[in-house]
Amino acid sequence: MITGKNYIGNKLSGEGISSHKTTNPKLNVENPTAFMEATPEEIEEAVSLASEAFKIYKNTTGKQRSAFLNAIADEILELGDSLIEMFCLETGLPEGRAIGERGRTMFQLQSFANLVSDEAWRGITIDRAIPDRQPLPKSDLRKTSIPLGPVVVFAASNFPLAFSTAGGDTASALAAGCPVLMKSHAMHSGTGELVASAIIKAAEKTGMPNGVFSNITGRGRTVGVALVKHPKIKAVGFTGSIAGGRSLFNLGAQREEPIPVFAEMGSINPVVITANAIANRSGEIATTYAGSITLGTGQFCTNPGLILTVDGESTQAFVEELATKTVAIGAQCMLNPGIKSGFMENGNIVTSQEGVTVVGRVEGAVEDNFAPSQINAVSGKDFLANPKMQTEVFGPFSLVVKSKDEDELIDVINSLEGQLTGTIIAENNDIPNLKGIVDALQSRVGRIIFNGVPTGVEVTGAMTHGGPYPASSDSRFTAVGLGAIKRWIRPFTYQDWPNELLPEGLKD
Ligand code: NAP
Repeated sequence: MITGKNYIGNKLSGEGISSHKTTNPKLNVENPTAFMEATPEEIEEAVSLASEAFKIYKNTTGKQRSAFLNAIADEILELGDSLIEMFCLETGLPEGRAIGERGRTMFQLQSFANLVSDEAWRGITIDRAIPDRQPLPKSDLRKTSIPLGPVVVFAASNFPLAFSTAGGDTASALAAGCPVLMKSHAMHSGTGELVASAIIKAAEKTGMPNGVFSNITGRGRTVGVALVKHPKIKAVGFTGSIAGGRSLFNLGAQREEPIPVFAEMGSINPVVITANAIANRSGEIATTYAGSITLGTGQFCTNPGLILTVDGESTQAFVEELATKTVAIGAQCMLNPGIKSGFMENGNIVTSQEGVTVVGRVEGAVEDNFAPSQINAVSGKDFLANPKMQTEVFGPFSLVVKSKDEDELIDVINSLEGQLTGTIIAENNDIPNLKGIVDALQSRVGRIIFNGVPTGVEVTGAMTHGGPYPASSDSRFTAVGLGAIKRWIRPFTYQDWPNELLPEGLKD
């Protein structure tokens, strides 16, 4: 099924078309509504509409797109309790998180609305003509940025609002002037439908072209593959698993016309804790990190899954305290049964490797979709010998690496795959000695944090939410913050162009 300007609600169905239901993970029962998978004809129609819409939408003024984005934020708020209830029903997340995430989603839309209300974001460069330059005259060159065309965005399972239907990828793409085809996430399709209805209302109220946004439902990859392969699609935004992101990236590259696939994927977010920090404030750090590891049942891409220490006299006591405090928080509900089974499988991969010990784990029976939080430990030597130790365990799970000295700790950092974040917990008197660790981290991560936690990602101009592969498929871009708009544009230069034909911002 698709929800576009012409397709609202749950009305499309057809012979032989598959459907799916979402799950209430707390009760471990299916929710009642069946969501029909979009047919090939519906996908074709949605993409064609988006392609036609692009001809108009790319020429809208920044102020018009700004009004559209602000109207989406207003319409999302208008959905009221129905949205909050559906969010909680489909994700098992508490009401406070739903309200907070709605606020973040609106803030992102409003931030991009503000960004494009003038033309500065296009990074305009003007090199004026020098007609009498010798030996040849110099042309007048004016560079701006223009949108790529219709884009596909995959909704993320772990942010049903802020990184889904009207989330950061949609907001940045619409701000840039790209129509969006949203591949709804099958595990929160009801939330997606509601938000799609808000976007469509906002599009109608602000006079946006038909097809500027469509919500496309499906489960089992057929729909996503068809969208990415469609010749009229010009770019893709994705947040999810490494396997999914890599597969879509390959698909984008294999097309007759290759397109960029901006995939934000796995990260275990190393945290270096110095021996001095452990010696001086072990209890405080354990409390803070037990909170960060279990926040949102650990289902954040910036979850601290790897803690790096130098093994000293206080290290084991710290690891035990961290485990005790993490376990004390108790088992919490995960987003859906698939995420729970992934958590268990990947956790078993790590803990079955030679040298890994389970320091603390929520024991006994836990409810079906609840995650038993777990803290584990391994030596630096064993970690370095085995890449499986770097498996992302999406959920409340962390592995503490105890290196024999700082050189080994730096070897561990150098052995890591690309990461979204790196964190250093240190004392002031450590600062002169941190250069080796900082240099090593900088080559592996997109954002470095001092004496804080990696969870919590601000939506601002200075944010980088990306990093070397596999944290993201292109470390030159960010998925969060105002810089995210750069994924959806390309540079374009006017040479010796008549002033009256130049777009706003480029004219004399
Ligand atoms: P996922 O399996 O990567 O799926 C995300 C979306 O991509 C879904 O819409 C899915 O469509 C689509 N997709 C995945 N593989 C595809 C392929 N080969 N071809 C076409 N479409 C494809 O992620 P998930 O379901 O959200 O979560 C599964 C696991 O991913 C989690 O347990 C976690 O390990 C990881 N994850 C990581 C992050 C992070 O930020 N690091 C965030 C979320 C999830 P269909 O539903 O149609 O298959």
